Amino acid sequence: MNILFLFLDGIGIGSDDPGLNPFAELELPAFEELAGGHRWIEGIPETREPDRLFTTIDANLDMDGLPQSGTGQATLFTGVNCAQIAERHYGPFPHSKTKPTIEGLNVFRRLEELFMDESEPCAFANAYPERFFGYVEKRDRWTVTTRSCLHSNTRIRSTDDLRKGLAVPADLTGKRWPEPVDENMMPADERAAARRLLRIASGHHFTLFEYFFTDKAGHKQSADQARRVLTSLDILLDEILAGMQNQEILLLLTSDHGNLEDLSTKSHTRNPVPFVAYGRGADQFETVKSLVDVTPAVVALFKGGEG
Ligand SMILES: [Zn+2]
Repeated sequence: MNILFLFLDGIGIGSDDPGLNPFAELELPAFEELAGGHRWIEGIPETREPDRLFTTIDANLDMDGLPQSGTGQATLFTGVNCAQIAERHYGPFPHSKTKPTIEGLNVFRRLEELFMDESEPCAFANAYPERFFGYVEKRDRWTVTTRSCLHSNTRIRSTDDLRKGLAVPADLTGKRWPEPVDENMMPADERAAARRLLRIASGHHFTLFEYFFTDKAGHKQSADQARRVLTSLDILLDEILAGMQNQEILLLLTSDHGNLEDLSTKSHTRNPVPFVAYGRGADQFETVKSLVDVTPAVVALFKGGEG
């Protein structure tokens, strides 16, 4: 079995007020399908079926203040409470005290240690533009996920991978790609992006895709942008759900902290975040209660011999 992990930055479970929460305002059939037909708002019932799990999990990590991406993502992708290590919520980049944890215990590295005889058990599906590499090297501003790539054998994908149809731009379709490129390199639409993700996932035990425009729209408090990104993601999810029927793929989806679900504030929120496991093996994630539990559950699933 292969896991496709969609990480959506900055979405929590918030109020049922459509004026504040785009998840309350919009019809999002694919999102709702993941949650047994329910909208992703406060009071949403848990779904616990063998092949479909929807629950809400804690992102506050036993720490006061508003959760941030650096510590939240480091926790999510290592299984260690990195807010405790940093003694605060910190972000968007990883806190210096958490770097050894990311280096030694990131999910890519942990899975590579399980699949020692395979050359590329994990994939990070995001494509990065050329200018990214020069910029981060100069300023040492690696995000949690790209830093995890540096300290594992998982590649950071580039324009070359886009050209081969083996990477997806951060906004799914490349409309906001910062460099001039041949348009044919980009997925034509969200459905094409979904098919790329499924194609990548079919060749690796664990494929991660990171999407941050949800968090951006939340910081902007823009209902328009919120509508645009959620509608776009709903199409992506719809195509993933259709395509994964024929493949042994388990879809995971979660976030690092709330934000977009409360457009009354431009900051993050302390709301719980959604956790989805969809496909065969979903019930193996029933013990996930917070960001800390996700990576250990992924590792345990493959250790169980399912791989
Ligand atoms: Zn943010």
